[in-house]
Amino acid sequence: MNIRHDSYKHQGQRAQLINLLASNKITDKNVLLAMASVPRHLFLSKDFENRAYDDVALPIDEEQTISQPYTVAFQSQALEIKPGDKVLEIGTGSGYQAAILAQMGAEVYSIERIEKLYKMAKINLQPYLKNINLFLSDGTMGWPDNAPFDKIIVTAAAPKLPEILLEQLKPGGIAIIPIGSMKIQKMVLIKKSVDNKISQKELGDFRFVPLIGKDGW
Ligand code: SAH
Repeated sequence: MNIRHDSYKHQGQRAQLINLLASNKITDKNVLLAMASVPRHLFLSKDFENRAYDDVALPIDEEQTISQPYTVAFQSQALEIKPGDKVLEIGTGSGYQAAILAQMGAEVYSIERIEKLYKMAKINLQPYLKNINLFLSDGTMGWPDNAPFDKIIVTAAAPKLPEILLEQLKPGGIAIIPIGSMKIQKMVLIKKSVDNKISQKELGDFRFVPLIGKDGW
């Protein structure tokens, strides 16, 4: 049983983090509100709890990481989330990013390839599971049974544009995917027009753990 909970101390630290994000070009109020309300420390082991509201990526199990809060805010903002959006996430990890999207009103479909993390995320995400569906699988193949999606977010580094995922994006949809080498990636914003034309824009350098799978590394 999870006996850890939120506290005034954590809420205060969270409020400071939100101020930092807001001064760093995160302007989507829904992103800021969601990040002010979801307790990031509950997605980390006790060892890292005291650093939960520093703007840094932190280790979770299996040599993976929970993304830096700025990165979570940046990707969430890029997706222009509207309530009811059907969002596919590749790389559940701790579940924190999925919780933020659910808190913003999205219906989330999140895929993780490592069983231990999938099980941990299921526990972490207990309060949000009404709006989040989890799947243990290779996310580079997408989730055909639930496609198409309004939005797609990849939270691991892809070596190239994952074509199968783009096929599962609705016309008018948006995808945000870090693409590059194992060491450093460009955040790529992809839009599919209503007549199915793909446009791409690079939004700066980021660092993610590798996307491992059939259409990944
Ligand atoms: N969004 C996560 C970040 C996790 S780090 C969070 O908020 O905590 C990236 C995750 O992607 C890791 O857990 C890794 O195991 C997972 N991953 C890597 N390749 C994958 C693939 N092909 N399919 C699904 N998950 C993958």
